[in-house]
Amino acid sequence: MPVDELIAAFVVDVPDFPSPGIVFRDLTPVFADAGAFRRVVEALAAPAAVDPRAAALSGAARQPDFDVVVGVEARGFLLAAAVALVTGTGVVPVRKAGKLPRERVSADYALEYGTATLELHTDSITPGQRVLVVDDVLATGGTLEAAVSLVEQLGGVVTTVAVVVELAALGGRQRIAPHAVHALWLV
Ligand code: 5GP
Repeated sequence: MPVDELIAAFVVDVPDFPSPGIVFRDLTPVFADAGAFRRVVEALAAPAAVDPRAAALSGAARQPDFDVVVGVEARGFLLAAAVALVTGTGVVPVRKAGKLPRERVSADYALEYGTATLELHTDSITPGQRVLVVDDVLATGGTLEAAVSLVEQLGGVVTTVAVVVELAALGGRQRIAPHAVHALWLV
């Protein structure tokens, strides 16, 4: 089964969450199924593919085109850690404000009402390091735009932004441009 059909089969649409009129795409059943989770993680890592050191885990054996995977709190953490493992790379968390204990950079982004802030440890990305940024859903793009800006504030090079689901009508891809967006299921 193609990976988009597999994701569609496991995602549960939740009407009126977190507020009336919003249909929330709940991906937790995708993560809970062993086969679906593996397919999604391997598809997120492609076309970067898999490091030989991790070949036993994944069955593939190509070098990734990134050095580290950045995951966005909180569902992005689940995916980024698994992608890092199958590609033989490390994982770095982008966290909501106030969670990271050491020197950090910050980026604000707009919510429907007000703003929020994401942060990244200053020493977690080195200048020139190639970064894959991962989250579960691309909606308006505000969250991933902020995550990309944090990586770039530290001199990192974002090679790809990878998501499981892209809500295409909300224009997030345009907001992330010119960075490449690798989405497994467009709805
Ligand atoms: P954006 O900033 O692109 O508007 O929203 C993306 C962020 O909100 C992501 O971190 C994502 O986890 C969350 N998000 C927005 N809509 C949904 C949704 O329908 N389902 C899930 N699982 N997360 C969503």
